[in-house]
Amino acid sequence: MIAALCGGVGGAKLVRGLYRSVPPETLSVIVNTADDVEMWGLRVSPDLDTVMYTLAGLAQIGAGWGIEGDTFQALGMLRTYGAPSWFHAGDRDLGTDIYRTWRLESGASLTAVTDEMRKALGVRAAIIPMTDQPVATRLHAEEGWIDFQEYFVHRRHQVSVDGIRYDGAETASPASGIIQVLQAADAVVIVNSNPVLSILPILAVPDIREALQQASGARVAVSPMIGTGSVAGPAGDLMGLVGQAATSAGVAALYAGLIDGIVISERDCRQRAAIEALGIAVLVTDTLMRDEADKDRLARETLDFARSLR
Ligand code: GDP
Repeated sequence: MIAALCGGVGGAKLVRGLYRSVPPETLSVIVNTADDVEMWGLRVSPDLDTVMYTLAGLAQIGAGWGIEGDTFQALGMLRTYGAPSWFHAGDRDLGTDIYRTWRLESGASLTAVTDEMRKALGVRAAIIPMTDQPVATRLHAEEGWIDFQEYFVHRRHQVSVDGIRYDGAETASPASGIIQVLQAADAVVIVNSNPVLSILPILAVPDIREALQQASGARVAVSPMIGTGSVAGPAGDLMGLVGQAATSAGVAALYAGLIDGIVISERDCRQRAAIEALGIAVLVTDTLMRDEADKDRLARETLDFARSLR
């Protein structure tokens, strides 16, 4: 049994490699929900959908969201009515949001609805939201606290922020199955998702953090940093908010106590000693996933590394 902690597109690249490297039924992906948002009365769960579409082979190639080949008729109508249209959602994607909202309003849990949807799309791994309760990432900008999607999508993370919080996480319970998965896993992989926006919200749920601390399987992270910044997106810029450098050593320090090993880029091999001084084992390899073969190779190397640490 393999467990993975994941956010959106960047992390889903490695999750796709993991999915192809083990019997898929033995993989459980625990996904960030602190980016979830209500748009036009619909419950949108961007990271859950990204992981689900990626594993179903539906994800839009080269974009941060959505379904390949989707059309945008519904969004066009919303724009005509003067509704907010900065949050992009295609027609098929909206079908997912309508189904989710409808089932939630009928009393189903987010965990149950997600499981229904991934099965219907033929995904054989478990996809589990970190919690069924509302958790919301907020960032502190000049004018005060702003919602995550306002920061990330509306303002394209081009606004300077000096604080972050995960509202609701402290009192949230893990979704059903998460603790058992973390206890039973031979390996737990914190994939290369944005540490501050995608992984810390999951770890901010106290029982998940505790289960990870006590997990008997090997716990390994894959660094999203190469050199002095992230491969893509604002992850590097945000590391300062949690008091760490935008380097693989910074990521290792952030996860200290929760991981046994970390996979870092060959370009960062000079950071090995500093990371090992934290009591964290290091695998140095090519961590850039340019294509499908890279995702499979990095996933296999990460799993072999985890096995070597048990
Ligand atoms: P996103 O914000 O929707 O892309 O979702 P995530 O939080 O899951 O992933 C973002 C992170 O993925 C960024 O910090 C990137 O640095 C990282 N990333 C993207 N592509 C790669 C890659 O090929 N290799 C590594 N190591 N990290 C990557």
